[in-house]
Amino acid sequence: MNNVMNMDLPKINEFELPKWLVITPHTKHNVSMKSLLVQQEETLKSSALSTVKMLELINKIVYDCIDERKAPFDNIENFMKNITMADRETLIFGLIVASYGEEQDFNVTCNACSKTFTEKSNLVQNLEINLYNGKEPMLKKDVDIVLPVSKATAVLRMPTLWDEYLFANSKGISQEVIRKADDYLVVKALKLPAKDSKDPQKDTTVVIDNIFDIYAQMRSMPARDRKTIYKAWTENFGEYGTKVLIPTLCPHCGNRGEMNVSMISEMFRQSQ
Ligand SMILES: [Zn+2]
Repeated sequence: MNNVMNMDLPKINEFELPKWLVITPHTKHNVSMKSLLVQQEETLKSSALSTVKMLELINKIVYDCIDERKAPFDNIENFMKNITMADRETLIFGLIVASYGEEQDFNVTCNACSKTFTEKSNLVQNLEINLYNGKEPMLKKDVDIVLPVSKATAVLRMPTLWDEYLFANSKGISQEVIRKADDYLVVKALKLPAKDSKDPQKDTTVVIDNIFDIYAQMRSMPARDRKTIYKAWTENFGEYGTKVLIPTLCPHCGNRGEMNVSMISEMFRQSQ
């Protein structure tokens, strides 16, 4: 009790924050997300942040808006180790609906006439969910792909927020590269064909499993190998997640279209 306050002041009623229950599409946790508080909105308004600081802020806000932070979400590090980027999108979806409701006004730019308009739409009604249904847990799944040019083997995985965090916080990684982090994070290891140092007739393999070495190695990779990696990754991991596609009708030219709503952008837009 604040000692400046008079003890006879009326006691303000407690209220419960609005919540929205979601299931994370990759790791399949049922999570109840709470509404943002005004103080959290304030932090989202402090724009001019670097990509790294932005990611940290987003992760912290998403974590703080989880209603019950039990294992494996008992602290933010464990949360980041057990959640993927697509899962985070879904948690933000829950956070947005809890904070601002299902009905939203979206700003749309017509791709036929380039004019802008506002489309009223419902986030929940336009949500598509594709839950991972494999036998192995998503975060334990590895897929080996032999690359056509270098003959190296790439071990592919679904990266977590922790992988993203480690990569983004490493020294010497530029903002530009961090924005493309997903490209490197999907590779868990590279197995490179090599010759034995003692016996050059003998074939051996050099295994690279550190993200920075993988990043360095991949930069000098033949273009076709890189394409093979992303194609295989998309086939094995890419189809699961949640998506919000808003049907749009341009009042200027009558063109019908669809707008894909990015949850992170939407959280920033709504909180301003
Ligand atoms: Zn139009």
